[in-house]
Amino acid sequence: MTIEIKVISEPEITCANCQACCCRLEVMLITDTGVPKKYIATDDWGGQVMNRLDDGWCAALDRDTLMCSIYEVRPFICREFEMGEYECIDERNANL
Ligand code: SF4
Ligand code: SF4
Repeated sequence: MTIEIKVISEPEITCANCQACCCRLEVMLITDTGVPKKYIATDDWGGQVMNRLDDGWCAALDRDTLMCSIYEVRPFICREFEMGEYECIDERNANL
């Protein structure tokens, strides 16, 4: 007798098969990394945040490639956001 075992694998979590879900989150600027002023907005409490456009994404996201157009000077919070971690999975589940 042969037993067939089917392995159902989860799709790999990678930015390459995402829709830049985390770039819809509010991003506060807590350090100066050199983000160009044109991408910065002021929130209701006077804090600096990344501006988001009507489509919900951060103003600095390249809409054609869905990649960060200011990667070298991206905010601290964006640098700390880890692919595959809880928040990432949460955003993917909510948006994909
Ligand atoms: S970090 Fe996670 S949520 Fe953000 S683009 Fe990559 S896979 Fe998507
Ligand atoms: S600054 Fe870049 S990485 Fe951060 S939310 Fe905007 S597009 Fe995404």
